[in-house]
Amino acid sequence: MMVTTHAAVGVALASSLVVLAPEHATVGALAALAGGVLPDLDLLVGAHRRTLHFPALYWVAALPALAWAVVAPAAGSVALACFLLAAAVHSLSDVLGAGEELRPWERTTDRAVYLHPAGRWLVARRWVRYDGAPEDLALTALFATPGILLFPGVVRYLCLSGVAVATVYALVRKRIPDLIEGSIR
Ligand SMILES: [Zn+2]
Repeated sequence: MMVTTHAAVGVALASSLVVLAPEHATVGALAALAGGVLPDLDLLVGAHRRTLHFPALYWVAALPALAWAVVAPAAGSVALACFLLAAAVHSLSDVLGAGEELRPWERTTDRAVYLHPAGRWLVARRWVRYDGAPEDLALTALFATPGILLFPGVVRYLCLSGVAVATVYALVRKRIPDLIEGSIR
């Protein structure tokens, strides 16, 4: 799935703060957005879906952080919980997408995301056929909606920008591998 989908899912989760702890909603949403983006930075460094994707281990930190935020709600504890929770959900939900490859629609690998404690890859379920697929764009738009409707200012702006970026990405997605290979050649 696209990084914008993961970021939007993080913000959607943090949107519950608008009711639960409105004074921390904006910081929580921004932290969740960052946490939703974080795992995919391993596209740039290390091995994608392995170096910064921890479908099990993020939860080991996220669940105590969540408990801490509930017991002692403050900007810092809420931000940490939202950040880790979004990274955990991102890493785990990547099993619902395609395999880790440049052209996921060719289905040459079933490796979705690396499960470190087991020392193996989780198998891609392909509910979302590839990142940037129409259903992926629909998910970005769907999960960005609470951020657009419930938040003023920067969160709303970032969610709208995310939908715009995702739309452009979805339109050019299948041409990207050729562009990458052309620039390497
Ligand atoms: Zn990912």
